[in-house]
Amino acid sequence: MSHQERQQRLKEKVDARIEAATDEKGILLVLTGNGKGKSTAAFGTVCRAVGHGQTAAVAQFIKGSWACGERDLLQSHGVPFAVMATGFTWETQSRELDMAAAQKVWDDAKAWLKDPAINLVVLDELTYMLSYDYLNIDEVLEAIANRPALQHVVVTGRGAHRRLVEMADTVSEIRPVKHAFDAGIKAQLGLDY
Ligand code: ATP
Ligand code: MG
Repeated sequence: MSHQERQQRLKEKVDARIEAATDEKGILLVLTGNGKGKSTAAFGTVCRAVGHGQTAAVAQFIKGSWACGERDLLQSHGVPFAVMATGFTWETQSRELDMAAAQKVWDDAKAWLKDPAINLVVLDELTYMLSYDYLNIDEVLEAIANRPALQHVVVTGRGAHRRLVEMADTVSEIRPVKHAFDAGIKAQLGLDY
């Protein structure tokens, strides 16, 4: 078979699959794994949606005083953010404070997950809230499952819970091949945050 014939067959197969995929559905996308790029990809998706004139909202389950270039940009484009004012910073000092802070962000996220006017909800670093048991997994999965039918949700974070992976429509695991940090290079403005 010539290269051209092979390409033609491949194209026919791909075209047939594209034609067969006709369902509209709110997608649950989970971006997990230990490699760099999970939150970046989630914010890229927000840009995609907002660029089409859609509405998006972002819950960040990390401390809000962390610099985040995307947050400043997207907020100025009308994207609401919920971030932890205090609490979770990877080095936990008070489990009670962290849990209260997580719950506050979750309350905003829950309201967004009921609002059909919001096309895309990002739950950045949510996986840790489930692995630390800061949020109740049944409640979180139920809220995601019962969201408006066409609303998309993106969850990021390492070690995604098995039940979250099972529920998701699309799951990508980002594998670290190498990372500059391991060579002693600190997080870089504009690239890492
Ligand atoms: P990013 O925000 O760059 O997309 P991420 O969301 O995939 O990264 P997190 O686990 O949320 O990764 O980590 C946030 C910070 O840690 C970022 O500054 C990122 O560059 C850095 N980081 C991500 N993966 C690694 C790694 N494998 N080793 C060291 N640092 C990492
Ligand atoms: Mg991240």
